[in-house]
Amino acid sequence: MGIFDRFGKKDKEKLEAGLEKTRSSFFGKLNVLVRGKDRVDDEVLDDLEEVLVTSDVGVRTTVDIIERLQERVARDKYVSSEELHTIMRDEIAALLDDHGIDVPTDFDDGHKPHVIMVVGVNGVGKTTTIGKMAHRFREAGASVVLGAADTFRAAATEQLEIWAARAGVPLIKQGHGADPAAVAFDTLAAAVKRGADVVIIDTAGRLHTKGGLMDELSKIKRVMDRQVPGAPHEVLLVLDASVGQNALRQAQEFTKSVDVTGLVLTKVDGTAKGGIIICISNEFKIPVKYLGVGEGIDDLQVFDRHAFVDALFA
Ligand code: GDP
Ligand code: GDP
Ligand code: MG
Repeated sequence: MGIFDRFGKKDKEKLEAGLEKTRSSFFGKLNVLVRGKDRVDDEVLDDLEEVLVTSDVGVRTTVDIIERLQERVARDKYVSSEELHTIMRDEIAALLDDHGIDVPTDFDDGHKPHVIMVVGVNGVGKTTTIGKMAHRFREAGASVVLGAADTFRAAATEQLEIWAARAGVPLIKQGHGADPAAVAFDTLAAAVKRGADVVIIDTAGRLHTKGGLMDELSKIKRVMDRQVPGAPHEVLLVLDASVGQNALRQAQEFTKSVDVTGLVLTKVDGTAKGGIIICISNEFKIPVKYLGVGEGIDDLQVFDRHAFVDALFA
């Protein structure tokens, strides 16, 4: 189906525009740090460490980057401060290459329907991401069925209905307060009957009953597996990039109790906290699959490590 292998010129422009605030905040700090310095020395690296941590890159990933830079400076003897941008870009790209996990380019592995369950706390952008994914898959020629298994929030089903209509895909729902597992079950039954290629299941994300939520998610999974053995084939955790380090904490919480197979980082547009993407793709052994770069139906990009680093240092 060739769904994941497209990163075009328009995507590049949108990503660069989306990362504008992150870029200017980061390079603003970087420029202050090298002002009046002609070479990269220990003092510059110390200051850089602080800049990275305050740019949401996270302590562990910052240490990884600084170590790489120290090695580079030791090897090259003299590194001018003008070269700092270039070597940072090289080293961050190399770091993401070493730690990044390749995203499968397709989901044509024989099973049908391919079932994707989307999880994450309230307001991160799950429903919006599902709408964008449905559109993307449809455009690629796949038939899609959505399941409104967030039966907890009053307007959740209506919101997904709007997205289903925009994307031109059917939605399976029950009433507000219905058993989410029952909705998931019905959705899979409908998808099997229609011979659909892809199913995407929305879920509730309330935090205050965390134990309850995790139990609910496992129940949904169990019931789906009974209808389509092996389902869900993917569990995507959606994280809001604009909350910075909080996204890291949510990822830690969710991955403890749910078998997350991929990450989606939303609201990358207009935040200065884009450094969190470097942090999360370095620290989790789970691939970042998509970036949300706006509220529109076309504003979902396949995460491409190289394109990301290029856009960050554009
Ligand atoms: P959910 O509670 O996780 O289902 O989150 P929603 O899908 O309802 O999204 C919450 C808000 O975030 C909505 O106002 C969305 O328009 C907005 N949103 C979602 N993704 C993005 C994104 O990539 N960029 C921006 N700017 N807003 C987004
Ligand atoms: P358990 O909780 O894992 O023991 O699984 P259950 O057999 O109780 O089913 C879990 C949920 O899935 C229940 O709330 C049911 O409503 C729903 N479910 C199970 N089988 C069916 C079915 O054939 N049709 C529908 N619509 N829902 C079902
Ligand atoms: Mg929602």
